Amino acid sequence: MATIAGNLYQLHHRMAEACEAASRPVQSVTLLVVSKTFPGDAVREAHAAGERRFGENYVQEGLDKIAELADLRSSIEWHLIGPLQSNKTRVVAEAFDWVHSVDRLKIAERLSEQRPAGLAPLQVCLQVNISGEASKSGITPDELPALARAVAALPALRLRGLMAIPEPAEDPEAQRLPHRALAELMAETNRQLGLQMDTLSMGMSADMEAAILEGATLVRVGSAIFGSRVKL
Ligand SMILES: *Cc1c(COP(=O)(O)O)cnc(C)c1O
Repeated sequence: MATIAGNLYQLHHRMAEACEAASRPVQSVTLLVVSKTFPGDAVREAHAAGERRFGENYVQEGLDKIAELADLRSSIEWHLIGPLQSNKTRVVAEAFDWVHSVDRLKIAERLSEQRPAGLAPLQVCLQVNISGEASKSGITPDELPALARAVAALPALRLRGLMAIPEPAEDPEAQRLPHRALAELMAETNRQLGLQMDTLSMGMSADMEAAILEGATLVRVGSAIFGSRVKL
């Protein structure tokens, strides 16, 4: 039977091979372990295997896990990667280290106001609807410059980069296109606005290689580590 530690070992091998194919150093890509729907004990196992960054989609589930794993708090970075409503910004600003799913200025302003003074700035990515799917959250590329400029000016946030969840595609070449588009968008926005965004949060279990080839700096992987999720 596959274990979490065994899956992680294989996954790091996959990441290293993709980096080699892309002529990139292995350290240029960070793994975010997506633990949504899996219990705190699964996070403990991955942590024991050396993982330090964990991503949650649902605010309440994330808060419960952060509380359950309070003894590991100083050695874990918690990332919120799912949708965030304005009535949940305070608890998120208090409990998480990163938010990848910022797509409205109002949410960013609340996070900045509500970030406790004793904590480091909240690290944020702006979510871009890179495939233009009607059902998906995220801003359009047109909306990016204004939002990036405004978020970069908020005192308790640090604008780190862009996040996307591209429309699924089977063909590895087709998978690369949205990732390339996101990478170009970040480079262009940095140039235009004089920003130093350094994080491209893209690539999941099924399209990690394509994302790394196009410059992903942080891949978000769940099922390749923990097994398939029961659909919620
Ligand atoms: C669930 C999820 C992932 C991980 O997906 P897997 O296919 O399980 O690797 C990554 N990013 C986001 C935003 C997710 O919701």
